[in-house]
Amino acid sequence: MNLDTLNPMKKHTFIGPEAIQKIYQLCDELEFGKNVLLVYDKTTKGLAGDTIAKILSDYDYNVEGYAITDSNEFNVDYTEAIIKRTKRDFVIGIGGGKSIDVAKLASYNCDIPWISVPTAISHDGFASSRSSITCTNGKESKKAQSPLGLIGDTNIIFKAPSRNYYSGVMDILSNEIAVYDCMLAESKTGRKVDQEALDISFSCASEILLNPEEFKNKTQDSIAKLIELGIMSGKAMQLAGDSSPASGFEHKTSHALDQILKIPKMHGEQVGVGTLGAKAAYEMLGEKTKYSFDVTLNAFKTIGLPVCYPCLEISQKDVLEAYMMANKINPGRYTIGNLVEESGISWEKILKSRKLI
Ligand SMILES: [Zn+2]
Repeated sequence: MNLDTLNPMKKHTFIGPEAIQKIYQLCDELEFGKNVLLVYDKTTKGLAGDTIAKILSDYDYNVEGYAITDSNEFNVDYTEAIIKRTKRDFVIGIGGGKSIDVAKLASYNCDIPWISVPTAISHDGFASSRSSITCTNGKESKKAQSPLGLIGDTNIIFKAPSRNYYSGVMDILSNEIAVYDCMLAESKTGRKVDQEALDISFSCASEILLNPEEFKNKTQDSIAKLIELGIMSGKAMQLAGDSSPASGFEHKTSHALDQILKIPKMHGEQVGVGTLGAKAAYEMLGEKTKYSFDVTLNAFKTIGLPVCYPCLEISQKDVLEAYMMANKINPGRYTIGNLVEESGISWEKILKSRKLI
């Protein structure tokens, strides 16, 4: 697909207050056809789904809607069945995560495009090509497709809890480690990731690291900026052909925590503190990084983000178990976690060096 189809500076992307009103314009521009399936949940139907259905119906679109109950295989299969039975031309995913994941995967499996309408920005999934789906063996990240259009209505997203916004900020900040891990992997294993993908991804994290004041408060402007960074992060993953520019060891620790904790914290919160954990390891092992630990820590503090695991109410025991488990997740991808294991230095020592546990 053409990478320019979704770009904050170009067409097919409407970001700002009342952007939702542009949905017919976006659909007209994209010319996918007139038969659309809206995928939402009970809440996001009311937040944006009903408005979109009304606008598109007024502009002669044939609109079907499906309210998912979860982002699991059943809901994906059911969505695909509706797409086929009612001969849909495209899908609009409306929500904070789950509806988006279902819309993304079901449209991919049926070989039709989808448009993303996030109602919260708690992670970068709204613009990425991977779907997080609950399967019989737990959560799985499945290959799907990027959206070809996006509506980021900052009025709607502003109403989502602040915790979602700050989680979204941390998911972008984690790109810093993901990029260092890609560079480390190349030097240790020869696995090469597209340089442009790494540059784009790193610039997303830099934007926040170097201007933390701009992200300190949840405002319409900071939300719009965060959407743009999420789109660019998604583009980096698309260029690389996998999630590696935006998902390094810090994401592995979060996936491990998802398995260990009875009630996991938000994805962005776990990868955020995981970013500090990985950064402390880079520092202790003397591996060069563009920004020092203190630059990253300062950004976290300025924005008011959690800077340790006790801040998230995660115990030392669970953290150490997660860090030990992390290397076993997606083991083909070399990260700072592998280097720590080879060095023989304990995670307890590393994490305590920066008061993270
Ligand atoms: Zn993430």
